Amino acid sequence: MTEKDILNYLMHHTAIFNSNEKLSIKEISDGNINYVFRIKSQNKSVIVKYASDKIRTSGNPLSTERNRIETNALIDENNYAKGSVPMIYHHDENRSILIMEDLYDYDNLRYALMNQRQFSTLGKDMTSFLTKTLLLSSDFIMDPKEKKQKVKNYINPMLCAITERLVFTEPYDKEINTNILTKENEEFLIHELYEDEHLKLEVAKLKYNFETKAQSLLHGDLHTGSIFVKEGSTKILDPEFAFYGPAGYDIGNIVANLIFAWTRCAVGTGNKDFMNYIKDTITQIIDGFKNDGMTLLKEKVTDRMYLNDEFLNNAIQDILCDSAGMCGTELIRRIIGDAKVKDITTIDDIKQKCKAECFCVLVGKSLIKQRKYIWNANNYFEIMDDIWEKL
Ligand code: ADP
Ligand code: MG
Repeated sequence: MTEKDILNYLMHHTAIFNSNEKLSIKEISDGNINYVFRIKSQNKSVIVKYASDKIRTSGNPLSTERNRIETNALIDENNYAKGSVPMIYHHDENRSILIMEDLYDYDNLRYALMNQRQFSTLGKDMTSFLTKTLLLSSDFIMDPKEKKQKVKNYINPMLCAITERLVFTEPYDKEINTNILTKENEEFLIHELYEDEHLKLEVAKLKYNFETKAQSLLHGDLHTGSIFVKEGSTKILDPEFAFYGPAGYDIGNIVANLIFAWTRCAVGTGNKDFMNYIKDTITQIIDGFKNDGMTLLKEKVTDRMYLNDEFLNNAIQDILCDSAGMCGTELIRRIIGDAKVKDITTIDDIKQKCKAECFCVLVGKSLIKQRKYIWNANNYFEIMDDIWEKL
């Protein structure tokens, strides 16, 4: 759809703008997959997200079903965690058009953290989002028949296949030519990722876990570029990868992306205040999920078989161990794979960039291999501090 088609659509299929309003339209996406337009009148603006049947950047085919899944996920996430996502104004399933609130006064969290900005409620907001969306959508709390219906509605084969390939396969396979290795780090990456059989075994287990554990409704792509912030408010965008998977995948993803922000700062300005802020945020997320998650389960679980403190403690612990492993896979795939993160790629000094890459890969490997023993934020920091000192 062209800009003209979008404006025509807005006029003839929605009542968002009056026919006498003068509108401006701009394609604003910095993502890879969809078209995102901002349409403004004098006193209002909205976002139109349009999913074509091809990926915007590569032109490869991709099911437009992702637009329906994103819309449903935004609705469910808002039901579980009120106000955590942009408001939906209109959805057209046949045309794959989603119209939503324009978060014009929010910033992309990745860029904000690259500039060492701090937001006082980020940790608390993320904990609330994760605890509520992951647990309220699970069999611990939801009626099992309703939950199975949801699993069915969120079957998302093509987008899951992308994750299975990019996150759990390609980073460990030297035959794959999509990996992009920083030349100065080639030997290190080949040795640490392609030649470590124990690591590959543990990643195979995590991959199988991702494919088979229909535990919770996941966002599915919870990196810092999917989070928009302003002081006192956090919004989560872009859940087109949503499906029922292991709860730890979302938690691990966001923690890994916070570790990228920490690493960038550590090899750059070394601003201790900001590095402590990132660690505090990780603590709020990991330890917060443990505490608030337990409180929520105790309050909401009704299945009499599950009303057992030891069972519920184990459940939370199991999610946190998964989180550590998934965090490790995200740390690794963003260094060696072709979907990199700007936090690391834009480090100018090549020595520092190599150090940052080594750090992320080694922390990732330890998290994957030791995940059975990792269920506190401090366990993450012990690994990070130990590896940092040795580099
Ligand atoms: P994709 O699925 O193609 O990655 P995203 O949903 O991530 O697309 O959106 C791409 C970009 O468009 C975002 O990074 C943001 O800059 C902008 N954007 C998307 N949705 C909104 C919104 N509701 N308000 C403001 N900006 C938005
Ligand atoms: Mg997307």
